[in-house]
Amino acid sequence: MLSLSNCRKLLTFSFDDGNTDDIRLVEILNRYGLKATFNLCSGLPDNSQYWIYEGKKEVRHINFWESKNLYDGHEIASHTVCHPHLEELTEVEIRNEIELDCIYLSAFFGCNISGMALPFGTYNETVLKTVKDLGLHYCRTVSDTYSFDLPEKLPLLDPTCHFLSGRMPELIDRFAEYDGEDYNLFYIWGHSYELVTEKDWSNFEKTCSEIASLNGTAFCTNREALMRCCGL
Ligand SMILES: [Zn+2]
Repeated sequence: MLSLSNCRKLLTFSFDDGNTDDIRLVEILNRYGLKATFNLCSGLPDNSQYWIYEGKKEVRHINFWESKNLYDGHEIASHTVCHPHLEELTEVEIRNEIELDCIYLSAFFGCNISGMALPFGTYNETVLKTVKDLGLHYCRTVSDTYSFDLPEKLPLLDPTCHFLSGRMPELIDRFAEYDGEDYNLFYIWGHSYELVTEKDWSNFEKTCSEIASLNGTAFCTNREALMRCCGL
C-alpha cells in the first residue's frame, strides 16, 4: 500500500446505520488494511430493538458504549439522529437531525464529523443548504455512478457502487487498469446487515482481498479521500 500522497487512485468504503454486523465487517476491513467511514444515528444508540431484514435476519444497532472503540482507525460520520426522510421535515427539524447528531457523535467518540450519509439517500434543497451551513463537506446519496470521477456537486456526493453490486468485478478491473495522472475515486457504500449467509461473508472477504491487492491505490476514510482529491 502506498502512502496517500503518492497515489492518484483512492478507494473508500461508507457503511450506514451502525449495526451489530459492523463488528465482523470491521474485522475483515482491518485484516486487509482497508478503511471505511461509518455513518451513525445518535438517536439509535443501543441494540434493544430489532427489525427483520428480508424476512430472515434480525438487525440490531450496535450498543455505543460497548462499541466505543470499534471504529478506531476508521471514521465516524453522521446519519442523522433518528434516520428520518429529511425532505419531509421542516428546516428546523432538518437542522436538529443533522446538527445534534454531529454534536453527540463528536462528543461521544471524540472526533470531528466531516460529512454524512443521507437516510434513504433522499434530500431536497433545504437539506443541501443545511449541510453547507453546518460546514459539512458532503452528504452521500445512494445513486450509484459506476464511475471513478470526482464529485462535482459537493456537498452532494454520489457513490461509485453498492458493496454487493454485481458490477464489482468489472469495476475493480477497470480501476486496476487506470494509470493516469488524474485522481480516481472508487467510493463503495452499503450496510453490514446485508451480509446474511456465510457465503455472503466469504464473498465479501474475497472482494476485500482483491481490492487490497490493487496496485497504486490508497485506502482511505471518506474524509481522507475527499481531502486528497477535492482539496477539502
Ligand atoms: Zn440508513
